[in-house]
Amino acid sequence: MNYQVLQKKDLDEFIRKLSGKMTVVAPVNKGYNNFAFEEVSSAERIALQYIPTILPPKKYFMPQKEKMLDFDISGKIPEDKAVIEYEDIAIFGIHTCDLAGIQCLNMAFSERPRDYNYLIRKDHIFSIGLECNDYCDESASCTLVNAHLPNGGYDLFLSDVGDRFVCHINTHRGAEIAGETGLFQKAAAADLTALDNLRERKRQIFKNEINIAPRFLPEIFEKAMESPVWEEVGSRCVSCGNCTNVCPTCYCFDMFDSINLDMKTGARFRVWDSCQLEPFARVAGGENFREERSERQRHRFFRKFKYPVEKYYRFFCTGCGRCTRTCMARISLKETLNALAKESL
Ligand code: SF4
Ligand code: SF4
Repeated sequence: MNYQVLQKKDLDEFIRKLSGKMTVVAPVNKGYNNFAFEEVSSAERIALQYIPTILPPKKYFMPQKEKMLDFDISGKIPEDKAVIEYEDIAIFGIHTCDLAGIQCLNMAFSERPRDYNYLIRKDHIFSIGLECNDYCDESASCTLVNAHLPNGGYDLFLSDVGDRFVCHINTHRGAEIAGETGLFQKAAAADLTALDNLRERKRQIFKNEINIAPRFLPEIFEKAMESPVWEEVGSRCVSCGNCTNVCPTCYCFDMFDSINLDMKTGARFRVWDSCQLEPFARVAGGENFREERSERQRHRFFRKFKYPVEKYYRFFCTGCGRCTRTCMARISLKETLNALAKESL
C-alpha cells in the first residue's frame, strides 16, 4: 500500500502544476447547494465539501453528444471514417459513490464488442478521488451499496485528516504525477492512524438508510415484478428522464445521422437516451414494450438492483441520491426500496 501526504497549504500549487500538464476539472459551488464539475486552474474555486454534483463525472467519460464517424456517400462506394474525440483531463475530487459509478460504466463498455470511444477516452482521464468525511444528505443511500468507502477505480485518492490529505497512490501514473509535482511526502505512522480514525468515525456516521441488509435485495427484486409499488410511482412520474440523465451508472444512448447541405457528407452522433422516455422501447411496427410509466419505472429499478447483479455481480446503484434530488415528482429511491422491502417481508 503506497500512502503519501499532501499538505493542504500545497493544494493550490498541486492544482496549478496539474493544470500545466492537462485540463483539470473539479467540483465548484453553483449556489443553492448545487455543485458541478468545471474546469479550474487553481484551488480557489474548488468545493472540498460538496454533495453530489448535478451531473456525475460520467459527462467526461461519455459526453452527452459525441461524434462517432464522418461519412461521404458521394462516390459509388460510400466512405466513412471513425472519429474518437478525447483530451487529457484530470478529474479532481471524485467522491466514492462516483468512483463506483465509473467502475460500472467501465464494466458495461468493456464488454464485447468493446466501446473504443469510451475506453480510449477513459485512458486519457486521470482520476483523483476525495473522501467524503460526512454523510451528504437524506437522499443518499451509499452505505447500502458499500459505496461510502473507497474501493479502487482511481489514480490518487485523498482523505482530509485536518491540515493535510493522506493520499493513496493506486496506479503507476498516479505515482508518476504525484512525484513530478514534488509536493508529496511519504506518510508517517501518525498519518495512517489519522486515516484509520477518520474511517472509524465514518462507520459511526454513515448508516444503511434502507430497512434491509443489502443481501436481501436480490430476493426482494425476485418478488417485485408484480408489485403495486410500480403503479404508485408510475402514476406520479412525468417521464422527464432526469433521473437517468443524472445517474452515474446509466449509459443508454441513441444514434442519429446529421447530413450536410451538400446532401453527400455528414456525421454520425450518439446522444444520451433514457428508458424513462416513452419512445425508448418502441420498435418498428409501432409496438412499445414499455408503454406504461409504471413499467418504465420498474425497469429502471431492475436495471440497478437485479439485472446487473446477475450479470456483473454488483449493484448499478451507487446510492448517490441524484435521482431523488432531481425528480420533480419527488419519487424517492429510498422510499421505493423501503416500500418494496416492506411488502416483501
Ligand atoms: S426524474 Fe422523476 S419524474 Fe422524471 S422520469 Fe425520473 S422518476 Fe419520472
Ligand atoms: S439510481 Fe439514483 S441513487 Fe442510484 S446511482 Fe443512479 S442516481 Fe444515484
